[in-house]
Amino acid sequence: MRIGQSTDIHRLVEGRKLILGGVEIPYEKGLLGHSDADALTHALAEAILGALALGDLGHWFPDNDPKWEGVNSQIILKECARMMKERGYHLGNADTLILIEKPKMAPHIQKMRENFALALDCDVSRISVKATRGEGMGFVGRGEGVLAQAVVLLEEDH
Ligand code: MG
Repeated sequence: MRIGQSTDIHRLVEGRKLILGGVEIPYEKGLLGHSDADALTHALAEAILGALALGDLGHWFPDNDPKWEGVNSQIILKECARMMKERGYHLGNADTLILIEKPKMAPHIQKMRENFALALDCDVSRISVKATRGEGMGFVGRGEGVLAQAVVLLEEDH
């Protein structure tokens, strides 16, 4: 077994879509970034790279490469899943967390789990997505940005 973890942070700004876990969430602000800036999906993808000791997401998907501009981050996640499979591993489970002040994540969590299960070719029961608020404190609490975390366990194929 191999374990991996990651944290990602993106700024919330006007004029961008809010996409988390591959779900477009109606809100007055969205996440700033080179791709679709889906911080939760980035954290999950990078946790897989971490478990495989393959470096960080920016190494494989550089933000100065036009190939990845505006890209759906589910494609990045699928690419990391491909690297995992190539090396003889599959996902044991993933536990993820998003810190965001507004809007409410609860209505979208099941769809995020389904998106991740699809990208990683596993049962949705292996994917956990949770959310919490910043209680008015720090950059999350002030609504300036979001922070996402992921921990994964990879199991060797038999
Ligand atoms: Mg990111």
